[in-house]
Amino acid sequence: MFSKILIANRGEIALRVIRAAKELGVRTVAVHSTADADAMHVRMADESICIGPPSGAQSYLNVPNIIAACEITGAEAVHPGYGFLSENANFVQVLEDHDITFIGPSAEHIRMMGDKITAKDTMKKLGVPCVPGSDGGVDTIAEAHKVADEMGYPVIVKATAGGGGRGMKLAKTKDDLDEAFSTARSESKAAFGNDEVYIEKYLTLPRHIEVQVFGDGRGRAVHLGERDCSLQRRHQKVFEEAPGPSIDEKTREKIGKVCADAIADIKYSGAGTIEFLYENGEFYFIEMNTRLQVEHPVTETIYGVDLVKQQIRVAAGEEMTFKQEELSIKGHAIEVRINAEKLPNFTPCPGKITTFHAPGGLGVRMDSALYAGYSIPPYYDSLIAKLIVSGITREAALARLRRALGELIVDGVDTTVPLFDALLQEEDVLTGNYDIHWLEKWLEKQD
Ligand code: ADP
Repeated sequence: MFSKILIANRGEIALRVIRAAKELGVRTVAVHSTADADAMHVRMADESICIGPPSGAQSYLNVPNIIAACEITGAEAVHPGYGFLSENANFVQVLEDHDITFIGPSAEHIRMMGDKITAKDTMKKLGVPCVPGSDGGVDTIAEAHKVADEMGYPVIVKATAGGGGRGMKLAKTKDDLDEAFSTARSESKAAFGNDEVYIEKYLTLPRHIEVQVFGDGRGRAVHLGERDCSLQRRHQKVFEEAPGPSIDEKTREKIGKVCADAIADIKYSGAGTIEFLYENGEFYFIEMNTRLQVEHPVTETIYGVDLVKQQIRVAAGEEMTFKQEELSIKGHAIEVRINAEKLPNFTPCPGKITTFHAPGGLGVRMDSALYAGYSIPPYYDSLIAKLIVSGITREAALARLRRALGELIVDGVDTTVPLFDALLQEEDVLTGNYDIHWLEKWLEKQD
């Protein structure tokens, strides 16, 4: 096992990793920007080191400074959390060159899945069902028309380098295609420096179902069921649950096995998520995330496992302690993402927290780096807390969510808590009857 690891992240996910490391007896190094000198992750780690000015590009994405921080502190490995450098293959390469272990998959696998065309191609070959679409990249508008005509409208033009919902454009009919094609290309060029796009059949009423997988890097892999993350705003998840209300045990075992076999086949190492759209009982692969996801706690809760500890173990060369036949689901878990944002427009709302009280009690987990007196800086993501609740049934988890939201106090900034209070009044949310467009449509009706 490592004696010391560095966490190249901030906020609740840095805390999450520090907690796992502490339980393994591993010392921790926090890195921070000048804006985060007073942040909780700095206080909780055994050591801390400043890596640059406030902007993420100059601090949490500053590879030379993070490498220097490892060398100064003697950290043997780096956990990247999510976002920032978590899916940056070059970073993994540089760490390797410095004999520092990356707690995550290989640079090769990150690269393979980071390019969505290669990812889809690989998954197709591994027997994973994919969304019907173009065979690789589409370079010209003439080719785009040919593909879309054959497939039938609506279609979606997507950036192969895409992420965070950017570089994605819907063409409902043939008339929309020229514009969708050129905007997707220019948006992708601007955001990712790569204008390659591909075309997919647009699924009209799917759910977003993702499968948690974990591999030992030597050809053994397991799945830990699915999460339903269909409640999204602007392609960003806001409410996630496991197990998926629309997935039965047989379906779970079938798609889970396909996913676990696929990543065993490529000798994938560590945690990963295979994302699908799910419509009329069919799964359609859209992308794989080669990192820990924001919503991993719902899976941890129902399976009773610690994914971060397993990540650290496998990176240190130990065996993962998972066996598929020993993994079983208990109960139901829901996570809501609490952002420092002002409703109804979700305007970021940084500022000073005057009072903070986290809910507690049976089946309540709060992953947050907030404390009273803390000033949320304006430079980063607006996620300030993840509230994860569980219960024996979905109904029990919903009742607990309502209760826990009632106990939570965050004064000083606006948060998205009222959104969840309102959603818990909705019949469709209570019955789990929603698709990926449900929340957007509901929000429109509220105006
Ligand atoms: P990103 O990496 O930018 O998040 P994804 O490929 O994961 O992009 O897609 C994000 C979201 O966009 C999905 O959760 C879904 O809501 C929507 N989406 C993507 N592809 C399709 C499709 N073929 N049909 C319908 N919706 C889609």
